[in-house]
Amino acid sequence: MRRFLFVGPSLPDPRRYFGGADDIRVLPPVKAGDLLALEPGPGDVIGIIDGLFHQVRSVQHKEILHALQRGATVLGAASMGALRAAELAPFGMRGVGRIFADFASGRLTADDEVAVVHTDREHGFRSLTFPLVSLRYTLERLVGLERMSPREAEGLIREMRALHYTDRTLERLGGRPRGAALRACLESAWIDAKQDDAIRLIEELTRHPQVFPELRDVPDTIYLHAWRLGHETGGHTLRIYQLFGRGYEELHARLVQDAIRAECASRCGPAASAPFPDAILNHAHHEGYLVPDDTALPPRLRPWLTEREHAGEPPLTLLRKAVTRAYRMLPDVTPDAEAARRLRSAGLAARAREVHGLATAINLNAQSRLPGFSVESIPDDRLAQLASDLYGVRPDELETAARMRGFSCADVLLAALRPYYLLAKYNPETVALSLDVS
Ligand SMILES: [Zn+2]
Repeated sequence: MRRFLFVGPSLPDPRRYFGGADDIRVLPPVKAGDLLALEPGPGDVIGIIDGLFHQVRSVQHKEILHALQRGATVLGAASMGALRAAELAPFGMRGVGRIFADFASGRLTADDEVAVVHTDREHGFRSLTFPLVSLRYTLERLVGLERMSPREAEGLIREMRALHYTDRTLERLGGRPRGAALRACLESAWIDAKQDDAIRLIEELTRHPQVFPELRDVPDTIYLHAWRLGHETGGHTLRIYQLFGRGYEELHARLVQDAIRAECASRCGPAASAPFPDAILNHAHHEGYLVPDDTALPPRLRPWLTEREHAGEPPLTLLRKAVTRAYRMLPDVTPDAEAARRLRSAGLAARAREVHGLATAINLNAQSRLPGFSVESIPDDRLAQLASDLYGVRPDELETAARMRGFSCADVLLAALRPYYLLAKYNPETVALSLDVS
């Protein structure tokens, strides 16, 4: 059993917290390929705190899935680790700490909440900017102590969120009118959110290293919730219709838009401003994601649409689609729960059970005929090719196709598709599922 820790600016001096566990190998912030290079095996424990993302390719979901499949335990917290853990909790990655919990619940949605500019290892991984999440938690504390009004706190968050993460500094806040007092106030209550969670991850890493049950103590996240749903609905109805249901995209988009309208009604009220001719876009504006000038598609929203959509649809339709796909739900209002309910009441569970049974039979058959075959051995590029054929998108558009069907990312979609690969590839008619759900 080996223990690894990928850490950088969130906790520049991690060994202080090891409490005598001197076998832990400390590695710099993780990037693509680093997990594969470890050749993880059963019993290994890998803690991910920091990761690179701008300058190089970030650690891939499938590397983490691979490590989990090989029997390693993967923990994530604070920064890149929290983001990946929120996405991969249903597959067994374990998240630790408040930031992870907030991403997993949908309370935090933007990756740049945890992003900072920092010096390199030689210069001690010093952070040169603050992560938005720390400001957020600090302001919550100040509001709780009645040292700041909720209105002022909200304004500050909105202002800092509009800046690029490379510009978020206390100096900048201090340069405003009455800035010196504001800065002193913030510093007196500052919560170093990433450091706090990084320390909690190390506590997990050093405590009872040998007993990490696969999926026991995962907090109840939107992902776990969706994963459980799959089991509750008599097998795999939700997953199968997400993958194969014709028109599932429309059902998903409709449910997300219902949730956005409900959120707007409860959070913003009827008097909120309405610069767009569309309730969904107006709420995106209330939440600070769109400005009224965004009638053409802003570049940051382009990746949410496929090329075919770009070419053929009017700007407001494109905006509406992109906003719907970018939206993350709260755990108690997942479109998945509602989708599963509607699939069940439309009487589709039996058909899904049938598909699942066929897939299982074909996989067992292949396993008995082909030595060494398992669904895990199907190469990722084959899965990606099948998925792009199924959804009529280019392989590099699978992220978008995944979001359209309610998966958090392409890797999660491909992992869900894996057990059905042989069936869908060689018996496509068996998975051509019609979906008539109101
Ligand atoms: Zn609103």
